[in-house]
Amino acid sequence: MARIVVKFGGTSVADPSRIENAADKVLAEWKRGNQVVVVVSAMAGITNQLVDYCQQIDPGCDACEYDAVVASGEQITSGLMALALQKRGLKSRSFMGWQVPIICNEQHGRSRIDNIPPEKLLSEIENDIIPVIAGFQGISKSGRVSTLGRGGSDTTAVAVAAALKAHRCDIYTDVDGVYTTDPRMVSSAKKLDRVSYEEMLEMAALGAKVLHPRSVELAMAWNVQVQVLSSFETKIGSDLPGTIIVGEDNIVEKQIVNGVTYTRNESKITLLSVSDMPGVAAAIFAPLGGAGINVDVIVQNVSPDGKTTDMTFTVPKSDAIKAKTLLEKLDFLADTEIRIVNNIAKISIIGIGMSSHTSVAKTMFTTLAENKINIQAITTSEIKVSVLIDEKFTELAVRALHSAFGLDQEEAS
Ligand code: ADP
Ligand code: ASP
Ligand code: MG
Repeated sequence: MARIVVKFGGTSVADPSRIENAADKVLAEWKRGNQVVVVVSAMAGITNQLVDYCQQIDPGCDACEYDAVVASGEQITSGLMALALQKRGLKSRSFMGWQVPIICNEQHGRSRIDNIPPEKLLSEIENDIIPVIAGFQGISKSGRVSTLGRGGSDTTAVAVAAALKAHRCDIYTDVDGVYTTDPRMVSSAKKLDRVSYEEMLEMAALGAKVLHPRSVELAMAWNVQVQVLSSFETKIGSDLPGTIIVGEDNIVEKQIVNGVTYTRNESKITLLSVSDMPGVAAAIFAPLGGAGINVDVIVQNVSPDGKTTDMTFTVPKSDAIKAKTLLEKLDFLADTEIRIVNNIAKISIIGIGMSSHTSVAKTMFTTLAENKINIQAITTSEIKVSVLIDEKFTELAVRALHSAFGLDQEEAS
């Protein structure tokens, strides 16, 4: 008997009939003799609507109350799923984050899970009750509802799987696995049977929305076997139709480039003529870090006169104004012009075989040049190269790189 955590994303529980379809899959796993624990997202569109309600009242609203509002979407789905399972003759109970409990830190709106004591869930499982856990939410140590950041139900599922020492965590979504790039943008994208944790971590962090980045981090740290699969197919997870995320050692043929990702949510901030001396970078980035703003690509130019330099970095578009306000408060930047460009995209190529091949960056830059796409900044790590470009070229760049690295699916003849 295997213990499986199954998670259904927003499109997979978008209305009562889809919830019933998802419940059929849970029933099928149960009939195989498996123990099943369910994690659900809010119905598609609900969380967006809840965020919008908060913003209508106050665009910079209190994060603690934002969490109280946006966590409610998952409460509805967990109750409905428990009802659908009961209708199928199964014993089932819904659980909010606080009832499990899923204990989180105090960073409202982007909380991290600290601990999931497994006793309560284990006793339900022992009594043949299928717990249906509201994803995306937990309880902070001070007793308030917290949420894990957009897309965070994947993280709930993997964290629950780790806490329960589950054999597998099946992430049911609206595509049948992880692809070489977003299949909704590039129809020739190929489904990957296996992806290493390392590649998946980069892909998720660099824009492949199919898994929440923190869920991959947790899966890697706790060695949780994660599978991504479609809830619209008739097969269930135990028949393995999806993509499995595995340790690098299990990948025999290491691809040079296995994925192309994009994110459009970046703003580029440039500080013109900042003093070029020790401590300046620290003084600039400390308040941003303190405010929880995630600074990404950072480029500092050579100082022509040895006294001043230009510094460019990116932040999430939603934090650009907040970042500018914080920088304007710094006395030593009083005479510095702060420019913000919002139409920036980051395009990345990822592959564990990249570290041993020197021509990857050259192929990437040549491909972009051939398509007349200007590169505004570049960052690299052992298994990825990212560039910033004008957002209007996103699709062109992704398609061109996908072809240039031989990732296009061959046309069926
Ligand atoms: P869910 O609501 O089930 O959590 P998401 O919308 O969060 O689903 O994630 C699934 C979506 O991720 C797909 O519809 C697809 O457009 C997008 N996506 C982006 N990159 C990839 C990729 N490399 N492979 C698969 N899907 C991807
Ligand atoms: N409902 C939340 C969101 O839309 C969490 C999730 O779906 O994973 O972001
Ligand atoms: Mg998702």
